Amino acid sequence: MGWSGQVALVTGAARGIGRAIARELARRGASVAVNYATQAATAEALAAELGRRAIAVGADVGDPAAVARMVETVTAALGPITVLVTNAGISVPGTLESFEPEAMARMRRVNADGMIHCVRAVAPAMAAAGYGRIVTIASNAAIGTALAGTTFYAATKAEVLALTRRFALELGSKGITVNAVAPGWIVTDMTRGATPEPEFAARVRGMAARTMVGRAGAPEDIANAVAFLAAPDSGFVTGQTLVVDGGRMDYIGHG
Ligand code: NAP
Repeated sequence: MGWSGQVALVTGAARGIGRAIARELARRGASVAVNYATQAATAEALAAELGRRAIAVGADVGDPAAVARMVETVTAALGPITVLVTNAGISVPGTLESFEPEAMARMRRVNADGMIHCVRAVAPAMAAAGYGRIVTIASNAAIGTALAGTTFYAATKAEVLALTRRFALELGSKGITVNAVAPGWIVTDMTRGATPEPEFAARVRGMAARTMVGRAGAPEDIANAVAFLAAPDSGFVTGQTLVVDGGRMDYIGHG
């Protein structure tokens, strides 16, 4: 089965990295479900741009019942899901000093629990078909970059990496691969936040200086890596983390 037989669900796909992933999978020929939490109109517009074999579907990935309904909706509209990309995520800055348990719980609910709910919702049909590609979006923060303020976000993404490997172990014999992409610093709403333009441009330059390739990342950089792991031909790659960070040089170490 080639790309044209694939049905992909991309979570958090109305904006940023998820949007680029949805576009790339559609460009390769997959049917695509564009999940959103709040941006319904943007998701609908993207689905319309992607064409007849695309839909927008709302669901809070932190709510397992909503995720189950989303999977039913996608299956009814496009067919059984063969590719899941768990991209939805949130980041709340925090340090040891400023730690807020409520912010940690909110991040865990979307970043880690949301990934679990989505994988649990699609795995039975993938297992019955003997085929599936699951790509999780972690972060290079999980592996130990030194960006201030990402401590607790990094911990939720480290959960994603552990779960990715464990789910790969549980699902491998059923023809399902599970891999993670760990992006570096990518220009999106998440990194821009409310930062005003001259300050943001300086931040982009600062982050570019931390990479070997000398630039900040674009959502398309991540979409390309996701498409590789989601490809029908990538069936012998599983339990892996593909770091796509331009060669970041500020990893915490004992050098
Ligand atoms: P973004 O522009 O802030 O977009 C976040 C997306 O997640 C939005 O589409 C949002 O949906 C969705 N989302 C948030 N909470 C959700 C929920 N409860 N249910 C469903 N969807 C939800 O972020 P981004 O930069 O594209 O990030 C995408 C992923 O890459 C995240 O997992 C992030 O942690 C990871 N990442 C980003 C960077 C970076 O530098 N940007 C680096 C490493 C990893 P709505 O639009 O509908 O609100």
